[in-house]
Amino acid sequence: MDKQQEFALRTVEERDVRFIRLWFTDVLGTLKSVAIAPAELEAAFEEGLGFDGSAIEGMTRVSEDDMIVKPDPSTFQILPWRGGPQGTARMFCDILTPDGEPSLGDPRHVLKRALSKAKDKGFTFYVHPEIEFYLFEQQEDWSKAPTPIDHGGYFDHVPRSPGMDFRRATVNMLEQMGISVEYSHHEAGPGQNEIDLRYADALTTADNIMTFRTVVKEVSLERGIHASFMPKPLSDQPGSGMHTHLSLFEGDGNAFYEAGQEFNMSLTARQFAAGILHHAAEITAVTDQYVNSYKRLWGGNEAPSYVCWGHNNRSALLRIPQYKPGKGNSARMEFRALDPVTNPYLAYSVLLAAGLDGIERQMTLTEPTSDDVWELTDVERQSMGIEPLPDSLDAALKIMEKSEFVADVLGEHAFEYFLRNKRKEWDEYRLQVTPYELQKYLPTL
Ligand code: GLN
Ligand code: MG
Ligand code: MG
Ligand code: MG
Repeated sequence: MDKQQEFALRTVEERDVRFIRLWFTDVLGTLKSVAIAPAELEAAFEEGLGFDGSAIEGMTRVSEDDMIVKPDPSTFQILPWRGGPQGTARMFCDILTPDGEPSLGDPRHVLKRALSKAKDKGFTFYVHPEIEFYLFEQQEDWSKAPTPIDHGGYFDHVPRSPGMDFRRATVNMLEQMGISVEYSHHEAGPGQNEIDLRYADALTTADNIMTFRTVVKEVSLERGIHASFMPKPLSDQPGSGMHTHLSLFEGDGNAFYEAGQEFNMSLTARQFAAGILHHAAEITAVTDQYVNSYKRLWGGNEAPSYVCWGHNNRSALLRIPQYKPGKGNSARMEFRALDPVTNPYLAYSVLLAAGLDGIERQMTLTEPTSDDVWELTDVERQSMGIEPLPDSLDAALKIMEKSEFVADVLGEHAFEYFLRNKRKEWDEYRLQVTPYELQKYLPTL
């Protein structure tokens, strides 16, 4: 029994915790949960808990359905919305086969594998996400466009707005669970909000994003509001992204920083950025996994549509933010394609691996783009070597299907499952006759 396990056991007793939820994530990024009684906790630490893996999206093939869920005691937290006596705690888990091997369908394991490759090269991967979401009024009929809870815009202070109160409650709850929040504000769309988590290592952040989504849903349920991370819920308003700032550290030093270079970018940073741009199209199905994700990417409003980078250029896929002079440890790059319904474990795996590949193969970074790339013509973009991102889930899948790189990062099992599942989603979507088509064609055709 290690110290963290002892701490969890002791807290359960002292705080009178009644249920311990074991959390894990399927290949699509859905949170799964099984509750155990306190008396089972010690055994769960030692042997794990058996479950039917074949019933979880992408976990196993049917022939090998017995799986084991093993809690990671470093993630033990009491759930604030189930605090007090007879409360509930949670831990994230690793999934193992009956032989004790990591499950190939466990996204947390995919990320751990990618992180250990970075570690072999002496790097730690830090990330911080800016998570956007909408707050809507409750509705019965989901086929109708939703109604935002306010008419605020970017950074608006909306007095007595349920949105401000909502952000406060969410941030408080996150902090009670040990998740630090850096900023929170009203975003550009009506009812749209953003909460930015403080940077942490990528595994902790991926766990934190799973918790974040749950906390937001809990707070919205309490208030009778519908919170949505859907990438583009309103066709004429900005979508919700999850820009993520990436950095590599070598020991205590930021490996992306070199004073005196262009934008203070080290060679490592340039190669990492080159790797991300090189693999950007292949990884888009992972970073933007739904049919609806592409309505955001191609819907303007500061969502990226083209593969390019720039210094403080908000139309670029990869942005090198400005930071205070002398603050070299703040050096980072912001990847802007991600949306808040991605599977964060898989998304951070492909981003890290793409960057590391750039370093390993010493890729050369193209020229930065200072123009607004949406304003350029196709011919201008072509002459500058700026390629578009895939414009639909179908296009993204066609590129990913051919990618040995993504297959290698996800592992064949998760790779094939993901493609199969997403192909099914696309096939289902393309058979739909939409309200748009009815309105446009039916009156005259
Ligand atoms: N909502 C925009 C997006 O979809 C981002 C807006 C912003 O934070 N500048 O990416
Ligand atoms: Mg922001
Ligand atoms: Mg934002
Ligand atoms: Mg941003």
